[in-house]
Amino acid sequence: MVVYVYRCSEHGVTEQSRPIGTATAAVPCPTCGSPAPRVFTAPRLSLGDPTRGALLDRAERSRDAPEVVSAPPPRPRRRSPTLTDPKLRRLPRP
Ligand SMILES: [Zn+2]
Repeated sequence: MVVYVYRCSEHGVTEQSRPIGTATAAVPCPTCGSPAPRVFTAPRLSLGDPTRGALLDRAERSRDAPEVVSAPPPRPRRRSPTLTDPKLRRLPRP
C-alpha cells in the first residue's frame, strides 16, 4: 500500500492509502466533495536515523490532531554533584 496525497483548494491535503499504481488523478474532497487533484511528493524511503524518523512520524501524527497536554513533562531528577563527586563529599557541610 502506498499513501497518495491529494489537495483540495479550500480544505487542504487529504491522503489515501492504495495499492501501487492505482492512484487516480483526483479524488473527491472528504469535506466538500469537489475534485482534489493529486499532489506528487517525494517517496518516504528509509530516513536512516531512527530518531529523525520518530520525530517525523510524531510531527505527521500531530498535523491533523495535535497532542494536547495539560502540564509540562516532569523534570528529570538530578542528584546533587556534592553527593556524587567523592572529592566534594569530603568538603565541610554548613
Ligand atoms: Zn474541499
